[in-house]
Amino acid sequence: MHWPVLWQRFCGSGFSRELWHYAALRASRLKPLPHRPTMPELPEVETTRRGIVPHVVGRRVVEARLRRPDLRWPIPSAIRKILVGQRIEDVQRRAKYLLLHTQAGSALLHLGMSGSLRVLPQITLPGTHDHVDLVMDSGQMLRFNDPRRFGCLLWQAPGETHELLRHLGPEPLDDGFDGDYLFARSRGRSAAVKSFLMDQRIVVGVGNIYVAEALFESGVRPSRLAGRVTRERYHAIAAAIRRILAHAIERGGTTLRDFLRPDGEPGYFEQELYVYGRHGEACKVCGSAIKATRTQQRSSFYCPNCQR
Ligand SMILES: [Zn+2]
Repeated sequence: MHWPVLWQRFCGSGFSRELWHYAALRASRLKPLPHRPTMPELPEVETTRRGIVPHVVGRRVVEARLRRPDLRWPIPSAIRKILVGQRIEDVQRRAKYLLLHTQAGSALLHLGMSGSLRVLPQITLPGTHDHVDLVMDSGQMLRFNDPRRFGCLLWQAPGETHELLRHLGPEPLDDGFDGDYLFARSRGRSAAVKSFLMDQRIVVGVGNIYVAEALFESGVRPSRLAGRVTRERYHAIAAAIRRILAHAIERGGTTLRDFLRPDGEPGYFEQELYVYGRHGEACKVCGSAIKATRTQQRSSFYCPNCQR
């Protein structure tokens, strides 16, 4: 069924102002975007967190509708047995995980390759890939949609750190992350600087897009050995990572209302890209052709002139 029909059925009224606004937004979506990431990266997860916070924090979970027993991993029984009845006190992000904290423990959620969260009236009919609904005492629910099912919903007992979070490096936007830190951690490393930066034990949430863009901005070639990059250049790299991620999160802020929309579009936002996905195109700074190399099934994009 087409969404406006559903919407009108639930609202019991004709086209509202909100709906017109939504239709306009939807029309604007038809224009091709310069780049739409296929996988939620740190900025999308942080935007998701900010989008759901006003609707779930302070609310009690009254029902957990699980339409399948597993996502990437089995959904633990604690979600039904412990989470239901609890009040959500805070929503925290760690790397690309979201933690819904309650006094009895925390639900740990990862969006995987294709997951998204929506806040919807609890009577909204589920679609094919709407696997989990957490219904709140407000009459709204947090709906988890994930076509590819690489996402997960797990449980963390109070006072414990889930195994998946135990060995994670610092957050790139926290104070502890800077050039000195990267310089110290990289000494003696023979890995390429790109894989070093994408190692979650070194720093979390720097995905393929952001590492490519940060290395371009700091003028460092992705294949350079991590152990041979100078302190000065690591300062430039850390600054670029922080600036690019913060900028992406800021842009994501304009999509916050998307979390209340009934269709399946996740809250992604376009990005301004200099090298990622631009193989063969002209560098926006010097005009040289952007190069791509492929290692371990991941492409590295760089400008052979601007990055040394
Ligand atoms: Zn260039």
